[in-house]
Amino acid sequence: MSENFYQQTTAAPVTAFDVSLRPPAFSEFIGQEKVKDRLLLMLEAAKQRSDVLDHVLLSGPPGLGKTTLANLISKAAGTQLHTTSGPQIEKAGDLAGILTNIQKGDILFIDEIHRLHPAIEEYLYPAMEDYRLDIIIDSGPSARSIQINLPRFTLVGATTRSGMLTAPLRSRFGLVNRLDYYTHEELALIIERSAGLLDVPIDRAGALEIASRSRGTPRVANALLRWVRDFAQVRGSGSIDGKIADAALAMIEIDSQGLDEMDKRLLEVLIYKFGGGPVGLNSLAVAAGEDSATIEEVHEPFLIMQGYLMRTPRGRMALPTAYQKIGAPAPPPGPEDPQRPLF
Ligand code: ADP
Repeated sequence: MSENFYQQTTAAPVTAFDVSLRPPAFSEFIGQEKVKDRLLLMLEAAKQRSDVLDHVLLSGPPGLGKTTLANLISKAAGTQLHTTSGPQIEKAGDLAGILTNIQKGDILFIDEIHRLHPAIEEYLYPAMEDYRLDIIIDSGPSARSIQINLPRFTLVGATTRSGMLTAPLRSRFGLVNRLDYYTHEELALIIERSAGLLDVPIDRAGALEIASRSRGTPRVANALLRWVRDFAQVRGSGSIDGKIADAALAMIEIDSQGLDEMDKRLLEVLIYKFGGGPVGLNSLAVAAGEDSATIEEVHEPFLIMQGYLMRTPRGRMALPTAYQKIGAPAPPPGPEDPQRPLF
């Protein structure tokens, strides 16, 4: 059951529930203070100069607010938002179709920009730099290049894998922002705000209980809140407190740190099947029965952040805390372990 929450955390379709909870203004966007400050400053500067905003890259795990920020940027700039994603732009004509429909100052949001086809990326460079598209039409001897001048626009790119972005593309963004996982306190505020919008009574302990099990991710927090709301309605009085939240989350096997069945399965496979690693991502994915991209984008960053897992050039390795977590005997000391006797 809990895996459903993670399907929502990949670059997945946004549910109606999500949309209604999306903060409509920067003032309601909780956390990510540095990123917010930078964006507000850029917006102010562009406004003072009556200029269009520079291109912005937002990176970070799914569900941290990249799409929401793109919406807020376009609202604050008072321009229209055009949304697409890397895999949706299959050929140069698709990109030309989008860019020729844009007005001056509009925002083009490209989600999963690291998945853009390299050939399309080449078309994007002059569009970002000189607001120009060079399109080749026809093929063979009659092939010729035509140049289309574009209105000045702002590209907001979002990526869960900033390391996969090519250097030339990355360097064309005026501002590169990495979103961090949220603190429990910030998530509790988000949960309280969402509960207010959903008209569900919740106390501080209830909000903090859900927050501490939400993997630092607002989208997960909202999804867990929805589940706890249902649970409170059927098994309780309809209001959420710490006890109800704990019972609801225990029922879907989300542990006190937010680890779900798949997180634990990954640690178990790594320790019991691969002796703690190092093991390659694909072997881990096959053995755990999960898609490797979901492991890499959703589970792994959280397990690394929590100190259970390490990424090394030879593969993934379990750290001692992972053995404790799943109740496995401690690993034998490794060669780099200072406790290990030398002779
Ligand atoms: P991403 O694009 O990074 O995958 P989204 O912008 O779609 O993430 O955010 C997922 C959901 O989480 C949003 O619909 C919104 O309801 C909620 N959310 C994200 N960030 C915040 C925030 N800072 N404050 C309040 N809600 C947020």
